[in-house]
Amino acid sequence: KFPCRIDKFVSHLTELPRTKVKAGIKKNKVTVNGETITKFDHSITQDDVITWQGEQIKYLGKRYFMLNKPAGYVCANSDELHATVFDLLHETNLKDFHVAGRLDLDTTGLVLLTNDGEWSHQITSPKKQKYKTYLVETKEVITEDSLQQLRHGVQLHNEKMPTSPALVEQLASYSLRLSIYEGKYHQVKRMLAAVGNKVVELHRENIAGIELDPTLEAGEYRLLSEHEVNIIN
Ligand code: URA
Repeated sequence: KFPCRIDKFVSHLTELPRTKVKAGIKKNKVTVNGETITKFDHSITQDDVITWQGEQIKYLGKRYFMLNKPAGYVCANSDELHATVFDLLHETNLKDFHVAGRLDLDTTGLVLLTNDGEWSHQITSPKKQKYKTYLVETKEVITEDSLQQLRHGVQLHNEKMPTSPALVEQLASYSLRLSIYEGKYHQVKRMLAAVGNKVVELHRENIAGIELDPTLEAGEYRLLSEHEVNIIN
């Protein structure tokens, strides 16, 4: 995409409309290699250093983060009511970033964030059968019969098909580990409701073999390693 017009480049990476960027150029808000530029069609290459309102803007390529999501954060790019997971991500140039498999407001644990849409599709598409593993705390005692039903697949309200077979391991009277590869709305909560129980706490430990780093406190994040990125495919 280089060489490229400066107004187009800035508009693309800041996600501001071209008219805003042009107005900014007029007000000396754009520099190229330390010089303020005034022409909208100023041509730039990949080696140029560009700033917008004093901050460098740059396309950094594909990036992948894991976050230990605390309760109370929404998995969305913006929200009117609550803080979002992106409020926890202290990074610049987050254009095109999205969550690869959302968690509910009150659910904690592993969230993957990336600007690589193909990669996240591999994770979220049920066809790819990538398991997501949850630690589930329940209100009622877990029965052997309910475990069998979950393994077999259960019928959720307002769904045509029963859930695909889940991998289920009971950990204690009120606690189990559950792995599923579908991502229906509130799926785990609805699955437990379908067997007469209720989720009181839900925490995601693993996505497709990528394990939540135990050194990450709630609210902390890190880049994925190359190995972790390559687990997907
Ligand atoms: N299932 C749910 O019900 N909630 C989540 O956040 C994730 C899976």
